[in-house]
Order: sequence, then C-alpha cells, then structure tokens
Amino acid sequence: MKVIVLGAGLLGVTSAYFLRQLGHEVVVVDRQATPAAETSFANGGQISVSHAEPWANPSAPLKVLKWLGKEDAPLLFRVRADMRQWLWGLQFLRECSPARTRHNIEQIVRLGTYSRETLRELRRKRNIDYDQRTQGILHFYTSQREFDAAEAPSAQMRELGCERHVISADEAVRIEPALRHIRPSLAGATYTAEDESGDANRFARELVKRCEEDGVQFLMSHTVTALRKAADVIDHVEATEAEGRFTRIRGDAYVVAMGSLSPLYVHPLGIRLPIYPAKGYSVTMPVKDESMAHQVSLTDDEFKLVFSRLGNRLRIAGTAELNGYDRDLNRVRCEAIVRRVEELFPGAGDTERAQFWAGLRPATPSNVPIIGRSTVANLYLNTGHGTLGWTHACGSGKSIARIVSGLTPEVDLAFVGVAANSR
Ligand SMILES: Cc1cc2nc3c(=O)[nH]c(=O)nc-3n(C[C@H](O)[C@H](O)[C@H](O)COP(=O)(O)OP(=O)(O)OC[C@H]3O[C@@H](n4cnc5c(N)ncnc54)[C@H](O)[C@@H]3O)c2cc1C
Repeated sequence: MKVIVLGAGLLGVTSAYFLRQLGHEVVVVDRQATPAAETSFANGGQISVSHAEPWANPSAPLKVLKWLGKEDAPLLFRVRADMRQWLWGLQFLRECSPARTRHNIEQIVRLGTYSRETLRELRRKRNIDYDQRTQGILHFYTSQREFDAAEAPSAQMRELGCERHVISADEAVRIEPALRHIRPSLAGATYTAEDESGDANRFARELVKRCEEDGVQFLMSHTVTALRKAADVIDHVEATEAEGRFTRIRGDAYVVAMGSLSPLYVHPLGIRLPIYPAKGYSVTMPVKDESMAHQVSLTDDEFKLVFSRLGNRLRIAGTAELNGYDRDLNRVRCEAIVRRVEELFPGAGDTERAQFWAGLRPATPSNVPIIGRSTVANLYLNTGHGTLGWTHACGSGKSIARIVSGLTPEVDLAFVGVAANSR
C-alpha cells in the first residue's frame, strides 16, 4: 500500500518508520523545512512511563481554579470566547473523577511501557544516538501533602508493572547529589530506575535518516490545505509547495499526525477530535558549573517542571497555558522557570546563554492519545499525545503501522478499532 503520513513530528516520523518496516511505500508531508520543527523541537526530553498521572485527576479542579489569572501558574486556563476551549474544559472536568483517572493511568502506563521497550529495540537495531541517559527519573516533592498524595498513584503504577518507588529525601540526594542544596526543603521523592531521557529532536532527525535509507520519501515545506473525499474514502490531500504551487498527493491510506492542528483538518470530514493546544515552555542552557548540575532526569512536582541532561546542556521544561494557538514567549513564565532552576541548582547553568522556546502540546482532556482508524475508511489517526508524545512515540508509531496493515497492535489498549474519540 502507498501510505501518506501527514506531519513529520515525533509521531509522524515513528509512524513512517514502522509503516516502511511493514513493507508499505511511505510519503511524509510537512509544512516545515526540517522534521520535528514544531512541538517535537525542544521538549523536556523525558521517557517517563512513571509520569502517568494525567492533568485531569481528582485534585485538578481546585488547583486550576486557584491558579486562574496567575501569570506564573503551572497550569493556566486563559478563558477565551472559544467554543472548542470550553468544550475541552468540560470534558477535562469529566475526566477528573477517581474512576476515569484510574482508567486513564492504566492506558497511559501500558502504552508507555510498550513504547519505552520499542524505543530501546529501535535504538539498538538502528544504532541511534540522541544524548540518551538511562539513569531513571526522580520525581521530587517539596510539599509534604503532595508527597503523601504520590503514594497511591505510585502503588497503582507498580501494580501495572511500572516500578515507581517512594523513597526518602536522603535517598533522593544519594541518587542525584545536585539536590543536596535543597535537602532541607525536600519532603521525599519517587524513583523509577527504568525511565530514561534524551533529545527528542535529535532522535527524530536521526530516525528520518534511517527512514530515507529505507526509501521513505519526505515532502518538506509542503503545507496541507485540505483532505478531499470521493465516495466514502479520502481521495487525495491538497497541499502547497514551498514556492506556493498547488499540488495533490494521493495514496491508498492516510495517517494524520499533525499534532495540535490535527482537529482543524479532519473537522470538515465530520470527525471531531477533542484536542486543544496546551502551550508549554522550555529553557536550554549550557552547563556552567558541573558540580552543581544534575545528571539524572528530574521532575519538580511543585513547579510541574522536568529537567533533563542533554550532553553538556541542561533542558528544563513544563508549565501549560490553554490559550488557543498563540505561541508567544511570555517573559513572566520564562523568568519563573529560570528563577526556579537557580533556586534548585544555583550556578549550574549559564543563564546568560539560556534559549527559550514554546510549543503547543496536542492535549486531549484525558491525556490518552487518539490512535486508530477513523470513521473514514482509509483515514487513520495518530495524534493527541499531549504531555507524553516523546514517551509514547515509538509505541504509537508501531501500533498505528500495525493497525493500517490490518494487524492487531502488540499492546492491549482501548484504541483498537475505530478511535473512540473520532466519532
Ligand atoms: C514544553 C514541553 C515539554 C514536553 N516534555 C515532554 C517530555 O519530557 N516527555 C514527553 O514524552 N513528551 C513531552 N512533551 C510532549 C511532546 O513533545 C509532544 O507530545 C510531541 O512532540 C507531539 O508530537 P506530534 O508529532 O504529535 O506533534 P508535532 O511535533 O507538532 O508535529 C506535527 C507536525 O505536523 C506538521 N503540520 C501541522 N499542520 C500542517 C499542515 N497544514 N501541513 C503540513 N504539515 C503540518 C507540523 O509542521 C509538525 O511538524 C512536551 C511538550 C512540551 C510543549
């Protein structure tokens, strides 16, 4: 079959790789000149199966209310006259019940575990280097209440096979000595030794090279303008090339992996995807003082920030702002991140050379992605990966490739069949 993959972010590139492995002719279309240039450009770098608790959980509604209007809040709803934002917000509230949270954690852990394994296999098989580190992820707490509340989800993750263990503040400092500076304010931590980190953008670019070696074609600087149906199937995709020339791209099957823009392109086909952009920030800076810098990938619960070590760079990312497709860099939010880094690891990074970035997470209310067939026979979806698109990329790419090929995915998830959210 000839399969057209729309989008060359982490999800599009991994889909293309696994589709090619299953023998398909594959063409990837993206509006950017280089792959992984949008949300997959400078994320937090964590392969975090342990980070499975979705934003929507029983404690979220109160927190979100408290944070309303606070410029430096970790999760900020900027209320707009935007029906899609309101509908998403209502669905988000529905996902906050204990039963839904439990169900969502289960889905997220299963896909995460499978995906991490798939990434390792791919890394070995194709010899891909992307500043990866396999020292686990340490999630630290500076609030006793939040630390106590971490016990239940950690236990649930262990039941699901993700070995996330609750550890003392002293043990946390033993694992990551750079935390010694804040030892007095540490309540405790959880540690998942199997989790990893690495430069997602570098991984995607390396995988594109392997795809090209295998014969995948990349049509970069091609902006998709519409998906056109004839009878009940997609007949072709309309796009404009870099010089503005109109072109039609035809295949037997199509995979939508356009990140937070996916819902806009399938809406005219009657497919409503509950995906809303959640803007996040990252800061990347060179290491200045090695003795103060972290080596292990970390999650700061209080500020909802993640820290990864990418070679001789520090990458810190997080916060979420629901404010439509705006990608402006808000100075207050950027400065809040740098302030927090300096508070935790004073002098570790060269703040003068800090590079700021913002990207739009394709967020679903449940944080469970949308992977599977759609209501249009030859149109498939691999999108809505929200906070965990890097963690879930390889497992999702392999799963959609199997679904397109008429095979059962290797992981037991609710996404088999027509994607539940695409009706
Ligand atoms: C601040 C931040 C930190 C994060 N940290 C982590 C982390 O530590 N771990 C983790 O697992 N995940 C993390 N994520 C999430 C992860 O980065 C995303 O889920 C993932 O990058 C989404 O990939 P994607 O391929 O779906 O979307 P994208 O990377 O946005 O790819 C979509 C592609 O579609 C293309 N496209 C869109 N519209 C068109 C069009 N009309 N025509 C042609 N092409 C089009 C775009 O150019 C783009 O290349 C983080 C995200 C952010 C913002």
